[in-house]
Amino acid sequence: MIKVGITGGIGSGKSTISKYLIKEGYRIIDADIISREVLIKYPEILNNIRTTFGEEYFCGNSLNRAKLGEVVFKDQEKKQLLEDIIIPYIIKEIDGKFEKYQKHGLKIVFLDAPTLIENNLHKTMDKNILVWVDRETQENRVATRDKLSLDQVNDRIDAQLPLDEKKKYVDYIIDNTGSVEETYQQIDKLLKVLKGEK
Ligand code: ADP
Repeated sequence: MIKVGITGGIGSGKSTISKYLIKEGYRIIDADIISREVLIKYPEILNNIRTTFGEEYFCGNSLNRAKLGEVVFKDQEKKQLLEDIIIPYIIKEIDGKFEKYQKHGLKIVFLDAPTLIENNLHKTMDKNILVWVDRETQENRVATRDKLSLDQVNDRIDAQLPLDEKKKYVDYIIDNTGSVEETYQQIDKLLKVLKGEK
């Protein structure tokens, strides 16, 4: 089985591509979903966050994700602290899912992870794909999808490693600046390569 990482930036088109791959019958491990699931599955994570960040990020037993998100968005050290708590659990879950799919005899399984490269997960994949768009397209798509002002959009884009920087870490680049149909065609070609047909 080959493990294929899919990454990009906010609004670059990861979900659009993942949905297409699912429709084509492939299995995608979604790192965003896992990052929420681990909070329920491993209560020690929330305990650790409570001890490290304080009671003010909780409402009873539930974590105020938005409030914590605001803080780590602005403060690199706090972001690192949070990641050190949660990422080992995310990696464990991802590994478990890959193992399960391997046992089922699947040949290709994808991991959709926005911070694949930032968290060094790309090194654990056999191949990596970057979903790339030009900056203007990215700004416009995020503004429309998330109903944000251009300033808010730029804050979010600038908080991430630039898409052009990510290019050096991947094996394949999908240019999602054009129509979705054009993107699907690129994916179809890439699937043939991954399956060793071309
Ligand atoms: P990501 O998962 O990387 O944040 P999405 O797949 O959600 O990005 O895409 C961001 C937005 O842009 C969504 O509203 C999506 O429908 C739209 N979009 C994605 N790809 C295209 C495309 N090729 N052409 C037009 N709109 C697109």
